[in-house]
Amino acid sequence: MKVLVPIKRVIDYNVKPRVSPDGSGVDLANVKMSMNPFDEIAVEEAIRLREQGVAHEVVVVSIGEAKAAEVIRTALAMGADRGILVRHDAPLEPLAIAKVLARLAQEEEVRLVIAGKQAIDDDMSATGQMLAARLGWGQACFASELRIADGVAQVTREVDGGLQVLSVPLPAVVTTDLRLNAPRYASLPNIMKAKKKPLAERDFATFGVPADPRLQVLATDEPAARAAGRKVGSVAELLEKLKEGGLV
Ligand code: AMP
Repeated sequence: MKVLVPIKRVIDYNVKPRVSPDGSGVDLANVKMSMNPFDEIAVEEAIRLREQGVAHEVVVVSIGEAKAAEVIRTALAMGADRGILVRHDAPLEPLAIAKVLARLAQEEEVRLVIAGKQAIDDDMSATGQMLAARLGWGQACFASELRIADGVAQVTREVDGGLQVLSVPLPAVVTTDLRLNAPRYASLPNIMKAKKKPLAERDFATFGVPADPRLQVLATDEPAARAAGRKVGSVAELLEKLKEGGLV
């Protein structure tokens, strides 16, 4: 079974984002970029499936500018087998990404796509769902456990108040939640080896997918600054302050 893992290059999760001067979005000039954390979890899960003998090949794909090749190399160093970079220099919305991924999933004849549950830059959490819909495949999003047997994926999902277990026949799309696994670090020898692994480049324009945006960003604002806290000496004082503030 071949597994496709879409990975996005996003602002590093340790970086405090700054709003760009014109308010159109986040300022990415000279900012550290990395693989979307949920996509690292997806790559790890796919590699584990290959190590268990459930999958035979893990293909990672990133759609974006030339620098997106960096996150592909990271995934290859973690253990993915092959990478595809679909070049497009402007940001794309989930529908366009899903259309490209659907084409690749069909061309590559994959049985499973493992995507992140959301990209931490725009927090859309839409691509995996749209991809499953376009392919007409089942979907199990926000997986905290994944088991594959007899052509069926059994996915545990964290839902309000408990866990839900879904059974989805393959081919299917699964998206990863934070608790699915702890991704491995790429070792230096594997980083060196990854340089020799195949990375194909494709042009987004050849997919015939419209790139024009359907969403318009009206404003991007910094979160309101929080007022400084106060220290209280006792529970009694805390209750008094809460009463004063009308909070109890
Ligand atoms: P989103 O719907 O934008 O929150 O993204 C959800 C998931 O879709 C991500 O975690 C990735 O697995 C995948 N994805 C989104 N954008 C891209 C992209 N430009 N290239 C590759 N995969 C992507």
